[in-house]
Amino acid sequence: MPFYGWLFDPKRCIECRACESACKQWNGVDTSVNVRYRRVKVVESGKYPQPVTVAVSMACNHCENALCVKACPTHAMWRRDDGIVVVNQEACIGCQLCARFCPYGAPQLNATTGKTEKCHMCLDRVDEGLQPACATVCPTEALRWAPWDETRDQGSTVIPGYGPSSTSSPRYRVVTTGWGRKS
Ligand code: SF4
Ligand code: SF4
Ligand code: SF4
Repeated sequence: MPFYGWLFDPKRCIECRACESACKQWNGVDTSVNVRYRRVKVVESGKYPQPVTVAVSMACNHCENALCVKACPTHAMWRRDDGIVVVNQEACIGCQLCARFCPYGAPQLNATTGKTEKCHMCLDRVDEGLQPACATVCPTEALRWAPWDETRDQGSTVIPGYGPSSTSSPRYRVVTTGWGRKS
C-alpha cells in the first residue's frame, strides 16, 4: 500500500489560497470557529531594503513519526495502514495534547464541538483513487501530492517558517522547479 506526501515549491506559489478554499469546501470545514485544515502562511525574511516574503501552504504532514499520535491519551489520533493520520471524533476529548506536540500547528480545537480537527488528506477522495482537493486545484502546481517513495528524496527538508525537518519526520518536501519546468 503506497504512502503519500506533499511537494511544495515556494517559487511557484502565488498566494491565491485556492488550496485553502478547496479544502474548506470539500470538507465542510467550520470557518466560523477559525479552524483551517490547510492554511497559507506568509513568511518574511531578509532586511530592509531587501525584505523577502514567501508563501507556504501547510496542513497535516502525516508524519512518519507522528508525535500527535504518541501524545494522544485516548488513541483518538491514529494512523491508517496507508500512513494517513486521522482524528476519531468520538474518542477525542479535546485535550489538545496532540496540538502541543505537533510542530506544524495542524490539530485545531473546534470550539463548538469541543473536539480536535485537522487535515485527513481527504481520505474519502484517496479511497476513491482521487487526489486531495487542495492539490487538485493549485493553478501553478506549487502544491503537489505524490507517492512518498517518489517524493522523499526530492528537494529540501527545510520548510520556510518552520525550519529543518523535525523529529516527527514530516512527509513534506520543499522543491524549486521554477516556471516552465517540472521535476
Ligand atoms: S493554490 Fe497553489 S499557488 Fe495558490 S496558495 Fe495554494 S499552493 Fe499557493
Ligand atoms: S503534522 Fe502534526 S498532526 Fe500531522 S501527523 Fe505530523 S505531528 Fe501529527
Ligand atoms: S488533503 Fe484535503 S483535508 Fe488535507 S488540506 Fe488538502 S484538502 Fe484539506
